[in-house]
Amino acid sequence: MRFDPTPEALAERLAAIDPAQYARTRNFVDGAVTRLSPWITHGFIELPHLVESLKARFPPESLHKLLEELAWREFFHHVWRTRGTAILKDLGPAPWKGDYAQEVPGDVLTASTGVPAIDATVRQLHGTGWIHNHPRLWLASYLVHVRKVHWRAGADWMVGHLLDGDLASNHLSWQWVAGTFSTKPYLFNAENVAKYAPALASPGTIIDATYEALGLRAATQPDAGPEPRRPDPTEAPPLHPEAPGIRRSAIPPRFASGKCVALIHPWCLGEVPPADECLAVFHAPFHERYRWSERRFAFVAARMRSMTGQEPWFGDVKALVKMNKGVRFVTIATMNTGYAKAFEEPHVVAGSVKRFLPDPGEPCGSFSRFRKIVGGLAQNA
Ligand SMILES: Cc1cc2nc3c(=O)[nH]c(=O)nc-3n(C[C@H](O)[C@H](O)[C@H](O)COP(=O)(O)OP(=O)(O)OC[C@H]3O[C@@H](n4cnc5c(N)ncnc54)[C@H](O)[C@@H]3O)c2cc1C
Repeated sequence: MRFDPTPEALAERLAAIDPAQYARTRNFVDGAVTRLSPWITHGFIELPHLVESLKARFPPESLHKLLEELAWREFFHHVWRTRGTAILKDLGPAPWKGDYAQEVPGDVLTASTGVPAIDATVRQLHGTGWIHNHPRLWLASYLVHVRKVHWRAGADWMVGHLLDGDLASNHLSWQWVAGTFSTKPYLFNAENVAKYAPALASPGTIIDATYEALGLRAATQPDAGPEPRRPDPTEAPPLHPEAPGIRRSAIPPRFASGKCVALIHPWCLGEVPPADECLAVFHAPFHERYRWSERRFAFVAARMRSMTGQEPWFGDVKALVKMNKGVRFVTIATMNTGYAKAFEEPHVVAGSVKRFLPDPGEPCGSFSRFRKIVGGLAQNA
């Protein structure tokens, strides 16, 4: 499974989309999912453009399921816009009243829990930077409800390794699984795994239980620990606060007064906005807080180099913008902390991210409410 940070690789993935097959098989780990998420997260393609191209190629009735999943992304971003950094804390009460661990246990990080569905998923996350939606749910549910790890610890770890890591989609999905952003915790069992991923079947393990038993465990039991029989640990790759191979610099680049400079950041890797010059940037304080795998940094940095023809600059973007007051910066807005603040300066023009669904006009706390207000997805798209 390869994810190249190029428009050509994106075009290949787009050409392979089969929405009817997607609708039938999306829950199976070998189903016809699009695997578009790394390009979508990093702004290679905007959702309205994607939806238009789908509508031009396929009959509307075949698109319903895929559009619904794209709508989940819009919903999570709607919640991010309306709740801001509150999405990073519990949005509601957790089902278990004990103390959740604040770190992911070593046996999970080294893929040696003894639950095949979990160990294989961790190995895939570390080895490729992408996992299918269903194993994401299983891994999150196992960590929170069986191992009693706070969802935030799991979410911060997962988002750093995912090539599509997106604070809204990831952290709100974790909260949805945890039950702090849903009406009940998401639980799964060995039977569910055997149906959707036969190769990962985990009979005889802690998840080989009824939903009633798992629900009771989620609400009342402490960490179940790893299985008595466990595979050998595999090395867990580190998450980095800086892009390996890119030198951090305290002194921002200077541009001649009166120039217009396009700022390329990790979430706008589509096209360079028209400008006199361009600069690709990593905002150091953000990356200190949200550490990334080497693979994720490499994915983003490679595209930045091909867009700008230069090395990206790794430093404090707020200082860069403040120090170049005579310069007009153009970029695309992002809600990622630190980047967003820097782009609030009056001499920065941050174009908005385009959406394919209308704004609901009120804060929606659930996908069903959001969907109800924005109306029939296929019609609106
Ligand atoms: C615990 C957990 C963490 C997640 N973290 C992320 C994340 O960091 N970034 C991310 O983009 N998605 C995340 N998702 C949502 C979903 O798993 C991925 O978007 C999807 O698996 C990506 O694969 P795909 O491109 O083949 O998706 P497809 O099924 O082909 O869907 C097409 C696109 O629709 C969007 N989409 C599909 N399902 C969802 C969903 N449930 N929520 C939000 N958007 C969706 C994505 O942009 C995706 O690329 C997470 C889900 C869970 C349960």
